[in-house]
Amino acid sequence: MKIRLAAPLQRDSIVDGEGIRAVIWTQGCLHNCFGCHNPETHDMNGGFEADTKDLKEEIKSLTEETGVTFSGGDPFYQMRECTELAKFCHTRGLNVWCYTGFTYEQLIELSSKNKRVLPFLNEIDVLVDGPFILKQKSYDVKFRGSKNQRIIDVKKSLKLGHAVEIKKYQYKEKTNSESKKEIVYI
Ligand code: SF4
Repeated sequence: MKIRLAAPLQRDSIVDGEGIRAVIWTQGCLHNCFGCHNPETHDMNGGFEADTKDLKEEIKSLTEETGVTFSGGDPFYQMRECTELAKFCHTRGLNVWCYTGFTYEQLIELSSKNKRVLPFLNEIDVLVDGPFILKQKSYDVKFRGSKNQRIIDVKKSLKLGHAVEIKKYQYKEKTNSESKKEIVYI
């Protein structure tokens, strides 16, 4: 099966999810978030075509990585291809993270019209959801660009019927006294 990519498989990433990860950079995104860091990945016909067979061979050769992250672009514009690859990652004992500009709730709503959504969600362990919002950009939030984006435990969310954020990554506004406490004078 062919998949459109923005870049070759990246190895050794420590910023696209927990642990050491490989990243599959998918091509194509229609969210058009203002301030997006990867505008060259938006064009649905941009990037280059790759064979999922070859990507699987590359995934097989990973030694340091504990997981694979789907990013882009938005992997939810190539769900069939990404599902196949995510399934393969799981057979190799690799966990799967996925970034998307859709919210979890939008994906669930979409799943009633598009049969490809749930099979892909079922192969994702952790979903980083929502568009990048420049006004909410923050360096306080790990593994994402803006405060609105959530790091979601997909298995728990599907089981409970609502988005369940992973507690340690949940963003909470600091109270004034908390932010004052953090000031260290040297
Ligand atoms: S979803 Fe991601 S790639 Fe797409 S426009 Fe937003 S920030 Fe950029």
